Amino acid sequence: MDTTIIGVAGGTASGKSTLVQKLQEAFIGEDVLTLCHDYYYKAHDELCYEERTKLNYDHPASFDTDMMIEHILTLKAGVPVERPVYSFVEHNRLPETVKIYPAKVIILDGILILENKELRNLMDVKVYVDTDADVRLGRRLLRDVQERGRSMDSVLAQYFGTVKPMHDEFVEPSKRYADLIIPEGGFNSVALGLLIENIRSLIR
Ligand code: ADP
Ligand code: C5P
Ligand code: MG
Repeated sequence: MDTTIIGVAGGTASGKSTLVQKLQEAFIGEDVLTLCHDYYYKAHDELCYEERTKLNYDHPASFDTDMMIEHILTLKAGVPVERPVYSFVEHNRLPETVKIYPAKVIILDGILILENKELRNLMDVKVYVDTDADVRLGRRLLRDVQERGRSMDSVLAQYFGTVKPMHDEFVEPSKRYADLIIPEGGFNSVALGLLIENIRSLIR
């Protein structure tokens, strides 16, 4: 089976996961698997919760990208894998895993997936969701307080301490590798339509 790999990168809260959700809806009934780089955040069982909250989660080294690449290659070879499960509330990998199966289309989602050369070279289509930093900060604040168990103070401290500097150093420069730059993500219906058509032609 040929596997088509679509990468969706972009800054935090740019709208990546929303775009991926729309793509999944467009391909309901087809063989599509989504794999987030977030699932592959490194485990930190050696640290206590307090220490884990202080880590830099926006540097390329915070992910086990080698494991993600190995899983993608295994899936491409037609073999299922057990992927890790990550908790943003615990700031840690959970003990359970999820069995995932080879698919015709694999969508990758993550802030830094275009930064890694080996990962990027696996992709047939590379997308970067481009949203202004103030809009992203506003969205992130709401999302992390409502869905990721954070306080407003902690979101802002993390944003200015690590998220923004790492964005400027690693995420934004990776935009140059994108085939398609989509302003505002999943609510951009023109770009979404073009992307869906492109994916259809690739899997036909
Ligand atoms: P990412 O995966 O890039 O971090 P998400 O897709 O999770 O971003 O979006 C972050 C937050 O912003 C979510 O709460 C989502 O519902 C919201 N959001 C995404 N796109 C838009 C948009 N175009 N307009 C308004 N809110 C949006
Ligand atoms: O969905 P999004 O792209 O925003 O997810 C990536 C973000 O998750 C990173 O910017 C990182 O700061 C954040 N993160 C976090 N706590 C963790 C792991 C990641 O806030 N434990
Ligand atoms: Mg996301």
